[in-house]
Amino acid sequence: MGAWLVDECDPGLHRPALAMGDDDFGPDLYLLLRGMLSLMYQHHGVGLAACQIGIDRSVIAWDTGNGPSFAANPVVIASSDALCTHLEGCLSIPERAIAIERPREVDVSCRSLTGDAKVISAAGLLARVLQHEVDHVRGITILDHIDRHLQGAASPTAL
Ligand SMILES: [Zn+2]
Repeated sequence: MGAWLVDECDPGLHRPALAMGDDDFGPDLYLLLRGMLSLMYQHHGVGLAACQIGIDRSVIAWDTGNGPSFAANPVVIASSDALCTHLEGCLSIPERAIAIERPREVDVSCRSLTGDAKVISAAGLLARVLQHEVDHVRGITILDHIDRHLQGAASPTAL
């Protein structure tokens, strides 16, 4: 299956993705994941949401160095009070990096490749990636995180 990245003007990046239903956990999902992962690795990304390849489904994939992982219908259900700020890029928004403050740790409820409900407890890079991808399935991109106050700052720092 050929897959390609949509650009940031694609409306699918700016609206919530359709939830995966019980009948959606079949062979088509494997094909979708295969396309997502090959594209993610090709572009040296650590995470990708289906909407980034034009598929309107609540599906995310990632690899933070421990091999490919996947979740359907991911939702952040708990987050730490402790926050951290990190420069984030996005495969859908090339050549931009935005400092985003997010909880350091999160719990994400989701469904597995076989449709089973599970909760992922994540910290560090994985927590960062999951929050970025959960944003995608909610129709939120890094551009939506730009701090309005910083936008008005006198002299932007070239990065
Ligand atoms: Zn992204």
